[in-house]
Amino acid sequence: MVEGIDGSGKSTQAARIAEQLGAVPTFEMGATLLGAEVRKLVLGLDHAPSDLAEALLIAADRAQHVAEVIEPALAAGRHVVSDRFSASTLAYQGWGRGLALEDLLILVELATGGLRPDLTLLFDLDVALAAERRGKEVDRMEAQEVDFHERVRSGYLALADAEPDSWIRIDASRSLEEVSDRVDEVLVARGWR
Ligand code: ADP
Repeated sequence: MVEGIDGSGKSTQAARIAEQLGAVPTFEMGATLLGAEVRKLVLGLDHAPSDLAEALLIAADRAQHVAEVIEPALAAGRHVVSDRFSASTLAYQGWGRGLALEDLLILVELATGGLRPDLTLLFDLDVALAAERRGKEVDRMEAQEVDFHERVRSGYLALADAEPDSWIRIDASRSLEEVSDRVDEVLVARGWR
């Protein structure tokens, strides 16, 4: 799975990784019909769900994503590379919004049926640089204040530190080529390519 704040370059790398591994590429939020509706509700600028409603909506997207995309792919013997997964909930709704992590862990467990990624790559990038790379078009999450994105970033770093066997932090401030090389090194080290 790939994680990081918006503009960190994770979608670019997720697509590369999926192609190299012959894996099924997918993403949150919105990889299913239901998820696409949830994505509009959560990220639309015209309406703000409460923090708890936001977490529950995102969990619904994830439950549908697991049932409709991830589980069938795994059952067919495929690998799956998802641009965002459970860790986004902990980083954004936990560190970012301030919801209790123990509640979010239960929610994530419910939504995923306990499914955990083999590996999560964290694309870590300075908040200002990420905003620059994102450009002008912003959704409701991207439009949050700088402090929010700083908290999300520190949440990701804490998650990666807590589970060094299943997380790898990648310095996303480097050039596209350097970041891609680093990702390829990780895949080779894991014996995946
Ligand atoms: P995210 O999925 O994290 O929001 P994207 O992969 O969409 O990020 O990248 C955001 C923008 O930054 C895109 O325009 C992408 O081409 C560019 N980008 C991605 N990686 C790098 C990099 N290492 N250096 C410079 N620009 C990058």
